[in-house]
This record gives sequence, structure tokens and C-alpha cells, in this order.
Amino acid sequence: MIKRLTPYIVLVSACTILLLNWQCRQYSNKPHRPKLVIGIVVDQMRFDYLYKYYNKWSSGGFKRLLQEGFSFEDAEYNYVPTYTAPGHTSIYTGTTPAVHGMVGNDWFDRGLNRMVYCTEDTAVKTVGSPSDKGMMSPRRNLAETIGDELKLSDNGQSKVIGIALKDRAAILPAGHFANAAYWFDDATGYWITSSYYMKTIPEWVKKFNDEQHTNKYLAQQWNTMLPIASYIESSTDTTPYERPFIGEKLPIFPHNLPELKHRNGGYGLIKATPFGDDITAEFAIAAIQNERLGKGTMTDMLTISFSSTDYVGHQFGTDAVETEDTYLRLDKNINDLLSFLDSYIGKENVVIFLTADHGAAMNAKYLEDHNIPAGYVDENVLVSAEKTDLNKKYGMDPILQFANLQFYLDKEKITKNGLNIDSVEEEVASVAMEFKGVERAIPVYRLSAFNKDFITNKIINGFNPSRSGDVILNLLPNYLDYDTTGTTHGAPYIYDAHVPLIFYGGLIHHGTSDKEENITNIAPTISTLLYIPFPDGCTGSPMQEAMKR
Ligand code: ZN
Ligand code: ZN
Repeated sequence: MIKRLTPYIVLVSACTILLLNWQCRQYSNKPHRPKLVIGIVVDQMRFDYLYKYYNKWSSGGFKRLLQEGFSFEDAEYNYVPTYTAPGHTSIYTGTTPAVHGMVGNDWFDRGLNRMVYCTEDTAVKTVGSPSDKGMMSPRRNLAETIGDELKLSDNGQSKVIGIALKDRAAILPAGHFANAAYWFDDATGYWITSSYYMKTIPEWVKKFNDEQHTNKYLAQQWNTMLPIASYIESSTDTTPYERPFIGEKLPIFPHNLPELKHRNGGYGLIKATPFGDDITAEFAIAAIQNERLGKGTMTDMLTISFSSTDYVGHQFGTDAVETEDTYLRLDKNINDLLSFLDSYIGKENVVIFLTADHGAAMNAKYLEDHNIPAGYVDENVLVSAEKTDLNKKYGMDPILQFANLQFYLDKEKITKNGLNIDSVEEEVASVAMEFKGVERAIPVYRLSAFNKDFITNKIINGFNPSRSGDVILNLLPNYLDYDTTGTTHGAPYIYDAHVPLIFYGGLIHHGTSDKEENITNIAPTISTLLYIPFPDGCTGSPMQEAMKR
């Protein structure tokens, strides 16, 4: 009997062993998550800079990201306005201002009847310095970030920290549930935070501040990193399109920082020099080491934003030697960060993405001087023309505010005067349309019915009913609401919308894609790599090509 059953017993045993083995393998195939996710935002970095300065990159910075990572070469913003607060928030929430509500760096708050700053919060206090620069929190962001989802997924065990010179660029990426966000205090030159996150500044931050890094940087001259003659990608050192520091006759090297400090914002001067990025990178590495990010059982996340590129870009424009030098030095910061991570945790245990919160236009005066259609719109002249017209036509002026190219109207005043809100919106729009440089003016009551081209679609994605204005303007390409030196951003056009987007790390393929990707696809891609839910307001989709899964 036993003998007859033997083949069956052997078969059943073999099957059991195979099943157990399969289950075991299933178990060992449990999701491999990176130990540390780092999001890097380079404020105002245009996509073309990646290749404009390519021959000047070191082997370990931007070039390493391109050569080992996956570069999406047509990553674009799909809303307006292309400003810093909406940009950083959209990257980390995977959605647009229509959902997350960050419709500008500031906007008119109808309830408070005044302009509000995106992260201002009078309910919290500065932690880390005696100044008031820490009265900030992420409360006005209406959506969750990747970091929020990460912490929600493991009962808050992951650590999430945000770092940037700009408060909004540290606070908004890190999110609501973050352990900390640190930003730069102009008044003291210290890294600070707010009582939203903690009661006292951590010992390592205090130690970093006590080391007086800001003073060290501001005690030197800003000279070019390479011989100035080699900056062939840029204009000559002095052009009429750059804005010198206050107290300088010309915008030329060397910039004497100790001499300039007093009249150019004190410690805040560091922000408009590449040393602002140096101190950010140093502080970020100190945060990783002291908070032991990536060394715990759960995945941690660090968000770093390099803000000096934006200050320098605004002041000197897209083609200045100062701008090139700032990027070449940032390349060194990226190199230092990547090689630090190699020895600290290994490339296979990190996932990094690098992008920008918007691009920048070229200087409009320079374009005009080279016969390219461009120009400036003087907002003060525009607003006073509107007020004159409304007073003449209706005997009253219902304009509460003009901000982010939008008119906010006093609807109560309009109805009290027996007027129709739609007609007043139409009137404001028609006066604006008379203005040179205005491409379209949309009365909000017919926004959804307006000609659906890429511009209207971007306006709709950037429109939040409770925070946006009542008449929305768009300017012609290369028309800026700024002065004639330096440059700015905010438009729907490609120069402001097209940014670098590179993924790098253990779970990332090497490659490139020319397919158009919206910036809102970053957050769901990171969520997918981490096996966590997409942030609640997410309207993007994961970019599979980059992922090893
Ligand atoms: Zn920005
Ligand atoms: Zn800017």
C-alpha cells in the first residue's frame, strides 16, 4: 500500500515545497523602496540651460544626472501664472492651482480684504532667531504633497524635511505633515523655521548657524569660477540689460560683497549670489547627516530648492556671465551632493528628481533691439486707465486689486450701484484689450466658454474660484510686466513653461524621452516608486518609462 502511494506522497511533497518556495519568493519580492527620496528644484532654470552650459558641466553634477538618469526633455507647466509658489506646490502635489489653490506668490483675499502672502501665518512664531521671518506655514495649500502621503502611509514614521533660502520654496514642497522646513532669515543670516513644526531649533541647526557661514561667504568677492574669457555662452560682462547691485556703477566682476552688503539687503545679499546655493547645499548635507535621513526603517524625503538662480536671473537676465557662473557653481553643489550620497547611502538606495518651478523670458529690451516682437506693459498705467474709464462710465470704481495680471472687483459695490457684474467685467476686459501688449482679457463669467486654445486651458488650470480675480489678462509673447533690466517669468509661453526634469537613482532607468509631460506627473511617479497613494488632489499620471519596476 505504502509502496503504491509513494509516488503520490513524493508528488504532494514536491508540490508543497514548490508552493512554499513560490510563496517565499513572493514574500522576498516585496516592494523594494528607496531609502531616501530627494526632490531638487532649481528656481528659474530653463530647460535649454542643461545643454547651453553642457560643455562646462563637471562630470559629477548635471552631466552625471543626464548620463546615469532619465531625462524628460519636454516637461512643461500646464497652467499660469508660472511663479514660484504655484510651481513648487504643483511639483509636489501633482496638481495645478485650480486644485491646490496657490494661485500666485500672493493674491487678494476677499475675506480679509487685503493681499496675502502664500505662506504667511500670524498664528505661528519664528523658531531659531528673534526676527519675524518665521511666521510662516503651509496652511494655505489646499492639497497634500508627496511627503504628506509618505507620512500618512506609515503613521508618520518617515521623516520629511524641506530646505530653501525662500520660505515658500521650503514650506510648500515639504507639506502639511512635514517634520520641518528650514529657510533663510535675512535679518540674522540664520536658518530658521516656525512654531508650526517645532518649539525649539534642533541643536545641529543651532550649531550650523553658530558657525557663521553667511558671514564667511559675504566676506569675499564674487569672482567668476573659471577665467571670465571662457564664458562664451553668455553676453559680455557688461550690457545695458543687466541691473547692477546698488552702489555699483556697472554690472561687472568682481562684485565686492563686503562693500555691497550694507546697501543690498544685509545678509540677504547672499541670495543674489551663487553663494546662496552653496550655503543651501551645505545645510542640506548637514540635515541628511544629522537627521540620519535614509538610515531608518522607513523611506525619508528631503526637498531642496536652490533659490539663488532666481534672484540672479531676475537681476542679470538669462544671458549674463553672472547667470552662467551661478549655474556652473550650482553644478559643483550637485556634484558634491551626489558624491556625498554615494558614500553615505549608495546610489541604489536613493531616488532623486531635479526640475524647476518655472523658466524665464529673455530680456525684452534685448529682444526689441534685435527686432524680435517684445515689450513691456506698465501695470500702473493700465490700472489707472481702467479706473478713469470706470469712473467716467459708471461714476464709481469697483477695482479692489490688480495682482497676477488679474482684476479683483468689488461685487457688492457693483450690485449696490444697480450694475450688472458681467457687464462690468466686460467693460474692464474691453479697456484692457486696447492696451499694447495685452493678448487677451477674459471676463471670468465666460471663462469656461472662452476659445479653448492652450492659453485658455492654462488659465483654467490656474484658476481657483475663491482666490483668483474677475478679469484675467494674458500678455503677448515676450511682453513683460517688469522693468527693462534683468527679466521675469509668469507667462504660459514655452520660455516660462519648459523646464528640466531628470530622475536618478537605484530604481531609475537611464534614458531620455521627448514626449511632452506635464509637471503634475512628477508626484504620481514618486508615489508609484514608493507604493503609496497619489497625493489627494493629483491630476497627473506616473511616467512609466523612467522606472525600473
Ligand atoms: Zn521661482
Ligand atoms: Zn522669480
